[in-house]
Amino acid sequence: MDEKALILAEDGIFPIVRDADGNLLPQLPASGLDFSGTIQGEGKLNGIPSLFVRLAGCNLHCTWQSPDGNLSGCDTAYASYAVRHSVSMSVERVCQTILHNTEHLQHLVITGGEPLLQAKSLNLLFIRIKQERHFHITIETNATLFDEKLARHIDFFSLSPKLSTSVPATPYADLHEKRRMQPEVIQQFIDHSLLYKKDFQLKFVCSGDQDVAEIKELLSRLQGWKNEDVLLMPLGCNSTELQKHTQQVLKYCIQNGWRYCDRLHISLFGNKSGV
Ligand code: SF4
Repeated sequence: MDEKALILAEDGIFPIVRDADGNLLPQLPASGLDFSGTIQGEGKLNGIPSLFVRLAGCNLHCTWQSPDGNLSGCDTAYASYAVRHSVSMSVERVCQTILHNTEHLQHLVITGGEPLLQAKSLNLLFIRIKQERHFHITIETNATLFDEKLARHIDFFSLSPKLSTSVPATPYADLHEKRRMQPEVIQQFIDHSLLYKKDFQLKFVCSGDQDVAEIKELLSRLQGWKNEDVLLMPLGCNSTELQKHTQQVLKYCIQNGWRYCDRLHISLFGNKSGV
């Protein structure tokens, strides 16, 4: 892999109105707004104006099965295991695109796919962009890979470990099962975060009692977290699916002192990419 380039997913850097040379793009971004940026729709930083960078490729293959037997795939499959229209863009062009679209934005969110798969190129991007401006940087990761050099550039770690309800059918089941849960790696993120006085969240997709039992089991193996760092998000990638699990997840949160995690961007923009 070219370390001076990033493989971006279809929506890439979003939402933007200018290209890497600062020229206005011919059409509006998927947000429908005539300016760059959106809001973070999930987690502790919910509602914060942000620009997103979505990288292509993932080391997992999530497909969730809810207690009623319904299956839901990865909500960004086009960026994970069914990659389409990805592009390779030099670190410098990514940097310039970000700078031309963040006049009023301080928060960058790096997401995927699994961004840690491109740790070396991301490291170069952060070194380069910090020569120009300071950004608050969030990384959204499945917490199966850790990179100390990269972590130093990051302010907020959004960790989404995958529970057994995410295991897909064969032929992907074995590899997914082997990789999906790495408590030692999660602990590395937490330790780094505490050492450098940063923040993190442990965000779980949840639909039933089995998920809660697994979350408690995982938490019993981790140190340095507080209840307010644990977030439960109802399973579902559209409003109808989300509503099916909302009441149950609300109950789990209140009974355990965990945070309920909404998906604000879905209610604001609908279930589409690039917003
Ligand atoms: S880890 Fe995230 S991006 Fe990768 S397949 Fe699972 S949900 Fe999709």
